[in-house]
Amino acid sequence: MIFPIDETHNPALTSWVETAQGHPDFPIQNLPYAIFAPHVSDPRPGVAIGDQVLDLRGVAGLGLIDPELVPAVQEATLNALLALPVEVRRRLRTALSAMLSSVQHERALRPLLHPAAACQLGLPAAIGDYTDFYVGIHHATNVGRLFRPDAPLLPNYKHVPIGYHGRASSVRPSGVPLVRPNGQRKAPDAEIPDFGPSRRLDHEVELGIWVAEGNRPGAPVPIAAAPRHIGGFCLLNDWSARDLQAWEYQPLGPFLAKSFHTTVSPWIVTPEALAPFWRAQPPRPEGDPDPLPYLWDDEDQRQGALGLELRASLSSAGMRNAELAPQLLSRAAASNMYWTTAQILTHHTSNGCNLRPGDLLGTGTISGPTREGYGSLLEISRGGAEPIDLPTGETRTFLEDGDEVVLSARASREGFVGVGFGECRAVVLPAPAP
Ligand code: MN
Repeated sequence: MIFPIDETHNPALTSWVETAQGHPDFPIQNLPYAIFAPHVSDPRPGVAIGDQVLDLRGVAGLGLIDPELVPAVQEATLNALLALPVEVRRRLRTALSAMLSSVQHERALRPLLHPAAACQLGLPAAIGDYTDFYVGIHHATNVGRLFRPDAPLLPNYKHVPIGYHGRASSVRPSGVPLVRPNGQRKAPDAEIPDFGPSRRLDHEVELGIWVAEGNRPGAPVPIAAAPRHIGGFCLLNDWSARDLQAWEYQPLGPFLAKSFHTTVSPWIVTPEALAPFWRAQPPRPEGDPDPLPYLWDDEDQRQGALGLELRASLSSAGMRNAELAPQLLSRAAASNMYWTTAQILTHHTSNGCNLRPGDLLGTGTISGPTREGYGSLLEISRGGAEPIDLPTGETRTFLEDGDEVVLSARASREGFVGVGFGECRAVVLPAPAP
């Protein structure tokens, strides 16, 4: 098994932190990492357990973790932790699982717990580079169909994982409001563009992949080695200004339509935590080409897909004022990815490009095959032609100021304790005067 199931996944395992039992996201079987600030400042690494965050720097101070890990938890980012060999990272998970389950550590560790709701959760890593892929085949087909009804997928799609270099400086943690971007808009029937607030602001439901160990320049990561370079996963909302995008994207691809803001959930859910939820990559439809040899690995095909359900919901300012629950926009399985996360990572390095610890890769929008699973408003509203109804009587084609989008994810499997990712949330603020 690439990520072995071990005693840390035992469904009978419980924690002396009472809220871990039955917690939808963070039971003791999960143990994701984040950078948190227990007070107004001094951000540091922590691990989620129930509704609490355990201060890893404090744990190191008690001499309870591997000496190799001690320098990494003194940092204000998780880059140094991600850079450690996979064996060391796995030992930390095993040690934390033992400490948080055994009452013998309760007295020493309880003072190191902080209620998550009272903490600031920041970006988990200093992101050197961010790359966004396009592996959600239903999304690619739906969007392609809006532009090219008879040939929605371009001929390269089933041979090469498509991606573009995103903007690392504007990746922000969940909760930071999103300011509607200004930009060049040109309606199809207009002769020239004008400049002003985007009128077609959209969300995109994606998974983020945090790079663990890097690779040297000129030394591609073979696909069988890709799993050790994956440090974990988060939710990623690749906010997109569709009107800016439609005008600017040719011939070099997305630019200012995407680079104004990307939201990530703060917790890094490790591939080890997800061990029970890896499953076979769905077989390609009859007639599709086989991946080229450098993208093929039997084990990756057997268990390189993630058994996760992704959800997006929307609440308008009016809905929140009326105390109405958010409206579910979509739910879809992460297995709707045409390429696995290992194929994405290996392809990225295949030309010799070096990835570094803390780099962020996005999968691209993950949509299901039918409307209930569409991971963007562009698809849900069919390019703005079919508005959706909100419980206040409002309608939406794209996002309005005051709207809040929340992404969530859940892994579950019979016989195991399910885990979640926490929230990836942001509210839309008005554009500044152009
Ligand atoms: Mn995207």
